[in-house]
Amino acid sequence: MSSKVRVRFAPSPTGPLHIGGVRTALYNYLFAKKHNGDFVLRIEDTDQNRFVEGAEDYIIESLNWCGIPYDEGPGKEKGFGPYRQSERKDIYREYAEKLIESGNAYYAFDTADELDAHRKDHEEKGKTFIYNWHNREKLKNSLSLSKEEVQEKLDGDEPYVIRFKSPKDEILHLKDVIRGDMEIDTNILDDKVLFKSDGMPTYHLANIVDDHLMEITHVIRGEEWLPSLALHYMLYRAFGWEAPEFAHLPLILKPQGKGKLSKRDGEKMGFPVFPLEWKDPKSGETSAGYREDGYFSEAVVNMLAFLGWNPGTEQEFFELEELTKAFELERVHKGGAKFDPEKTKWFQQHYIQLADNDLLTEEFQKVLKKQEIEAETEYVHAVVDLIKERVVFVEDFWDQGYFFFIAPTSYEPKDSKKAWKEDTNELMSELIEVLKAQDEFEAEKLQNEVKSWIKSKEIGFGKVMMPLRIALVGALQGPDLYKIAEFVGKKETIKRIETAIETIH
Ligand code: GLU
Repeated sequence: MSSKVRVRFAPSPTGPLHIGGVRTALYNYLFAKKHNGDFVLRIEDTDQNRFVEGAEDYIIESLNWCGIPYDEGPGKEKGFGPYRQSERKDIYREYAEKLIESGNAYYAFDTADELDAHRKDHEEKGKTFIYNWHNREKLKNSLSLSKEEVQEKLDGDEPYVIRFKSPKDEILHLKDVIRGDMEIDTNILDDKVLFKSDGMPTYHLANIVDDHLMEITHVIRGEEWLPSLALHYMLYRAFGWEAPEFAHLPLILKPQGKGKLSKRDGEKMGFPVFPLEWKDPKSGETSAGYREDGYFSEAVVNMLAFLGWNPGTEQEFFELEELTKAFELERVHKGGAKFDPEKTKWFQQHYIQLADNDLLTEEFQKVLKKQEIEAETEYVHAVVDLIKERVVFVEDFWDQGYFFFIAPTSYEPKDSKKAWKEDTNELMSELIEVLKAQDEFEAEKLQNEVKSWIKSKEIGFGKVMMPLRIALVGALQGPDLYKIAEFVGKKETIKRIETAIETIH
């Protein structure tokens, strides 16, 4: 094996990148960085029918947003390109033919209808039709036909596929970094199609040829590719190439119930299964993305890192840099990883608390702009400082602090009923007088004055503080009331109390 670690992420551009694909990319990235290796992006677009416009850009933007850009790939040519399989078509034909020459593959001319008939026939007898050693000598291929017949068909442009000739009566020994050693009896395998008559390779051939030519040392991919591992081993052997190491990542499971996490689970439970928002070019349908839903990429990356891996310590918060040090393929679990949308929120809460307040101020300004509110940066910054601990998303700054910018437009009925009693109007009018007398409208001073006034009246604090909160905020929530009063200022505070007196009673 070449000494430099080289891994690849090899998505097919058939739509938006599922969050599971992002995890595969992340683990590849982490492994590459840990070993000072290269992280290659290869676009597996041999299936033209499933090609979706914009999907490749989406994949690249997703990796960049997560902070895990590829070192080598489309647009980052490092001598192993092209990195799109559709641009490598000619290479695959040559390798398919090599396998035929070496007796490891053969032309098969069976039509779709013929194969269907075989399938039906087997079904009727309670059997399953598998194209392999068992029957290949009886089917229409270059193993059963004479050389001349084969040449005639090829010359006559008869449609064909090239199939791999799986060995008979052999036990294959497969290795997986995560799953350990496995044994497979080759007699249960079918002779997979490697090349189609439309001139395109299938996934198996293109994938193996490219991994070899791109000098990939470790193949890290989803568990759904485990059933292909035996064929891939046999292909390496047939070509006389050394196989890379393989690691198959566990499935990502639904938060509840059984089975794989699906797009529908996200829609049903209200969480995204895609990193970025995606607008389907055909249906126009939009799917939610973590970025647009207000998540920080740090939170998504931290959540994904733990979806199938753990460091073996108590530490739960890992930024990318730390992950690249701590990550070990051997610590990836075998069993499926249950997706927990609440955990992502928990990480988000953590990372927003760590975020720089200047940056949050900038982001909050965008939210305010949407509300058509213009406010001084300094003021917005002060609000951010004050209510940061209450937010999980930047949007929450508005929900948790709108009253710093606008007077309440309504009063929470339950709260105002609880706060506003018979004598409240009178008390609030008196409070206005107390406030009017304050020259310095500063929280601590206000607190002292209002407190001693309440004490002098020998009434409970709640009788004043609750209605005051209703007047300033519109509900019984929010941070320190004196701070709110200080922030909105004397005139506005008094105005809000007056409005509440008029509106509530
Ligand atoms: N193109 C395959 C996919 O879409 C790549 C599988 C592999 O990594 O070998 O997942």
